[in-house]
Amino acid sequence: MDNPQLVIIGSGPAGMAAALYASRARIKTLLLERISPGGQMLLTHWVDNYLGFPDGIMAYELVEKMTAHAKRFGIDEMNGEVVSLAKVQDGIRLELANGDSILTRAVIIATGANPKRLNAPGEQELTGKGVSYCATCDGPFYRDQTVAVVGGGDTAVEEALFLTKFARKVYLIHRRDRLRAVALLQEKALSEPKIEPVWNTVVESVNGVNAVESLSLLNKVTGERSELPVNGVFVFVGLAPNTSFLPLEVKRDEQGFILTDEWMKTSVPGILAVGDCRAKPLRQIITAVGDGATAAFAVSHMLTTE
Ligand code: NAP
Repeated sequence: MDNPQLVIIGSGPAGMAAALYASRARIKTLLLERISPGGQMLLTHWVDNYLGFPDGIMAYELVEKMTAHAKRFGIDEMNGEVVSLAKVQDGIRLELANGDSILTRAVIIATGANPKRLNAPGEQELTGKGVSYCATCDGPFYRDQTVAVVGGGDTAVEEALFLTKFARKVYLIHRRDRLRAVALLQEKALSEPKIEPVWNTVVESVNGVNAVESLSLLNKVTGERSELPVNGVFVFVGLAPNTSFLPLEVKRDEQGFILTDEWMKTSVPGILAVGDCRAKPLRQIITAVGDGATAAFAVSHMLTTE
């Protein structure tokens, strides 16, 4: 294969939208994906707020539709993990984990983010044995059991609601006395009889031998400590961006999210960033898609004016 003009790293909604717009602009594009397309959409069950689907849509179905659409006008695709990239005289060079190297004129980073850990004792040891970061994947194992969800954002509340399909009881443990999630989700969760909020509370440890048995909790207002018996705990306490492979010249905020301008350009010419790995106020499928379109347009402009 000749050198691509553009490499898009990651095929979540931001990367797929960039691929669609780049291929329609007749940019020779390579879409690189570590495992399979979809990004964090694969971690959720149902999407209720992507415009054009008034009844909502199963997340995997939206992934299939987006993948088919992104490929429709012709792009190259490859599985591979980028371990480093560097600006060189004739473009940008990407190094892959398998030892391959790719030279290109422009790169769109669409590597998304991963769920953050609580970093509580027992969490790591019991991951996969009752500690989970994906309700869609693991929720069905907890039919008629008791689970806890940790976090107060959109993900925690949405996934707590999803877990009520299976679990007998869902504790929603939040470190403050007010949820961060959008109002509609809050209303649904707080009126759901199976969900019991546990306010002002943090998890001090996850306990169990071969499976999760309980959580040690601390109420931050009263200072009271307690033990909550649960069969599983789902942790949704925010996102950490997948940006550690980038060189220091690509400027990031203190949490590692990539800083861009309104064209999605980073501090390094020829390198753009889109979607959840970018510093921005609203991380949604709909904003990821907008980022991808804008970045492809910027690359098209760059390639024709350079
Ligand atoms: P988030 O919005 O950053 O919320 C993280 C939650 O975890 C917050 O409630 C935070 O508490 C809590 N938290 C953080 N660190 C903690 C710790 N160490 N211990 C206990 N609690 C902790 O993350 P998210 O819910 O994963 O959402 C990420 C992005 O995706 C957001 O932009 C969100 O809107 C978006 N999203 C959208 C949808 C949707 O539209 N349907 C669905 C999922 C996600 P505080 O509130 O006290 O900070």
